[in-house]
Amino acid sequence: MSTRKLYIETYGCQMNVVDSEVVAAILQQHNYQVTEELDEADLVLVNTCSIRDNAEQRVRARIREFGRLKEKSHSFSVGVIGCMAERLKEKLLEEENTVDLVVGPDSYRDLPALLQEVESGQKGINTLLSLEETYGDIRPVRMDRNHVTSFVAIMRGCNNFCSYCVVPGTRGRERSRDPETVVRECKELFEQGYREVTLLGQNVNSYRWKEGEQVLKFEKLLERVAKIHPLLRVRFATSHPKDMSDHLLKVIAKFPNLCQAIHLPLQSGSTSVLGRMKRRYTREQYMERIQAIRKFLPGATISTDIIAGFCGETEEEHQQTLSLMEWAGYDFAYMFKYSERPETFAAEKLNDDVPEEVKSRRLNEIIVLQSRLSLRSKERDLGQTYEVLEGPSKKSDAYLYGRTSQNKVVVFPKGTLKQGDYARVVIKDCTSATLKGNVVS
Ligand code: SF4
Repeated sequence: MSTRKLYIETYGCQMNVVDSEVVAAILQQHNYQVTEELDEADLVLVNTCSIRDNAEQRVRARIREFGRLKEKSHSFSVGVIGCMAERLKEKLLEEENTVDLVVGPDSYRDLPALLQEVESGQKGINTLLSLEETYGDIRPVRMDRNHVTSFVAIMRGCNNFCSYCVVPGTRGRERSRDPETVVRECKELFEQGYREVTLLGQNVNSYRWKEGEQVLKFEKLLERVAKIHPLLRVRFATSHPKDMSDHLLKVIAKFPNLCQAIHLPLQSGSTSVLGRMKRRYTREQYMERIQAIRKFLPGATISTDIIAGFCGETEEEHQQTLSLMEWAGYDFAYMFKYSERPETFAAEKLNDDVPEEVKSRRLNEIIVLQSRLSLRSKERDLGQTYEVLEGPSKKSDAYLYGRTSQNKVVVFPKGTLKQGDYARVVIKDCTSATLKGNVVS
């Protein structure tokens, strides 16, 4: 059979980046080869995100573009995979006639069989969620361009059911991956020249794997990956404040190749809003975790996620978010307006009653504050020297860019260095987003 060409577009989170690589590996076993040229494609897959309405609207617009191309000149099949496929299921086939295939995040092994149905002129669909599936035995087809950094999924699903979030519905219950396969994958990446891995999970702190009578927790897995090689940097995302332990922070302090950057989503600085969000921690409990990070990892940076304008949010509750941000001094934050998602507790039980213009004004205040905090965090680095792992600069061949262990972007003159080298860089200048420096060794 002649080799088929697979074109994948990936939207949303890092977990989707890994899933697209897993899908490419599954289809590679069935004579598909990844192409970056849409014109060459026999199959187009769109790996989707449902976290906010505008993410889904972007995908619908893209599907219609593929539809117009098919009418004009192309004959590829179109498949929608990922969270939007799981959330909408058959509805997507009814509403978008360009779509031939709908496959949820736990059903990618079924793709080859579903594609045979599509080839025989039917529509293919499988959105069954699984309690076991981790794709742990599959070696993803790497689609990154830098061959320096890569993502490795250690678990799937989420049991936290935050009231605004679609993830538990689109990705199912938590299940952890066999640690042997995680360590094997990280080792192979190192042998292939990668120098940084990011371990991924919706809530990595609830990673659990039973080994005989023992239960292996995230801290232990992190230690095993850290021991692969001192030149392999290790990051992880995402932690949940209610589960992040002092033990984890002590493990990070013990290994220089475990990166000193903690992403700890806050969402809101008000205990009453956190209650309505079902985040299961209070303002005080969150601050206590920040203090623990400062105690065990004084040099670490902290980043976060913030939602502005959640159901019932008062001006006073908004001010509590601003004051906690100021106190925490975040280096970076993902900041969004609340977007009501169907089939979530918030959509069914709470009112999305903060007017849009108030949401926008509050989000803007959060963004302005964060940009001041980010600049302050970067200014503290002036004159400091950091070890940077680099890749190609997007802007100029004469420069490289890289990241410090604290996950700060540094741009510096290339000299004789090449992608994937470590370099020590003294920081000379900064903006709120980037550090600039010179190589010292
Ligand atoms: S922890 Fe909450 S916000 Fe994060 S994926 Fe799970 S349910 Fe969603």
